[in-house]
Amino acid sequence: MQEVLLLKCGELVLKGLNRYKFEEKLLRIVHDRMKKIGRFDIWSMQSTIYVEPQGEQDLDAALDAATKIFGINSVSRAAVCEKDIEVIKKTAEEYLGEKLKGVTTYKVDAKRSDKRFPLTSPRIGVEVGGYLSDVFPHLQAKMDEPEMTVMVEIRDKAAYVSGEKLRGVGGMPVGSNGRAMLLLSGGIDSPVAGYMMAKRGLDLAAVHFYSYPYTSKEARDKVIELADIVSNYSGKMTVLLVPFTEIQLEISKKCKEDYFTIIMRRMMMRIAQKGAEMQHCGALITGESLGQVASQTMEALGCTQAVCYMPVFRPAIGMDKEEIIDIARKIGTFETSSLPYEDCCTVFTPRHPQTKPRLQKVEEQESRIDVDGLVERAVAGIEKITVG
Ligand code: ATP
Ligand code: MG
Repeated sequence: MQEVLLLKCGELVLKGLNRYKFEEKLLRIVHDRMKKIGRFDIWSMQSTIYVEPQGEQDLDAALDAATKIFGINSVSRAAVCEKDIEVIKKTAEEYLGEKLKGVTTYKVDAKRSDKRFPLTSPRIGVEVGGYLSDVFPHLQAKMDEPEMTVMVEIRDKAAYVSGEKLRGVGGMPVGSNGRAMLLLSGGIDSPVAGYMMAKRGLDLAAVHFYSYPYTSKEARDKVIELADIVSNYSGKMTVLLVPFTEIQLEISKKCKEDYFTIIMRRMMMRIAQKGAEMQHCGALITGESLGQVASQTMEALGCTQAVCYMPVFRPAIGMDKEEIIDIARKIGTFETSSLPYEDCCTVFTPRHPQTKPRLQKVEEQESRIDVDGLVERAVAGIEKITVG
């Protein structure tokens, strides 16, 4: 039996004139993701993207990948058949029989997009429902929360019968709102922040600061692994790896200990912006959450913000750790984030960091180091890798 995946587009529907551009972008993304799994014929019609396997293909993998594409609201796996009510009934019996045997309550949801089809949607429901109740006498029709819903759609090209509808991730197609640079640590928050902004249609690049030999090769691999998991959603991603040891040593040598973290954060932002320019990004993304640590108080964020000319997106700013962890689990980054390797931030942590730093003081302390030279050397040492 010929099967196909039906991907229903989400927010796109609301986008008026932009809709066409969005759909094109989304279609290209679906092509890219499916190419990794096998050979599929892909086309779009009436706010639905069709993914049709060419020969034997792994449809489960394709289904899983489709539920991770931003801009897709729901995904179903359906049997394709002729637009003939008798054929549709037989297809439903054959295709969904095993599943129907395992439930007692069900309903039929029919939708006729092709108005040339002689039966109305309610009529199709009655016909198919009547037939299935005859063949499977144990079944009871139940309109409210049945165990299973049989979906029948009559569209231009064919009829589709399906027994499951999975929720997609929703959001907007990656790239439809531009490109941003994610400051990616090995922690829990920043991968989640990247995911959240990719969901709002941002294409991602990432930057990671490491302090070899104070941080290990494992810590670096962990970050690459995290970028790779996020790329299941956001698509191919360039990761910039920035040597940060010289900067940290210099700050710890020349600046007062309690300003260490805040100056370090300002250096990160400066370098991240350079990286963002190199990668054609228009904004930065961090995993900061208000009040979580000393460098994330309102005053500290203000001092960090002061060196940024690009917008900084902090989608986790108003979230509790528990809420962030829930998303980390859902997207599959939590376990990797929980591996116990050092981040460069934790290597030189002052005992009593400033929680209410004043910008003037910070700048005074910072003037003891050669900011421009340090930034320049760090940028020159950037190593670029690609994941996804
Ligand atoms: P996370 O869980 O994302 O590591 P955190 O709670 O540990 O966050 P901080 O260590 O203060 O918080 O970092 C705040 C933000 O700064 C991170 O979310 C991340 O965006 C960025 N950041 C921190 N360390 C690094 C790093 N080594 N490389 C790149 N970005 C970093
Ligand atoms: Mg961290």
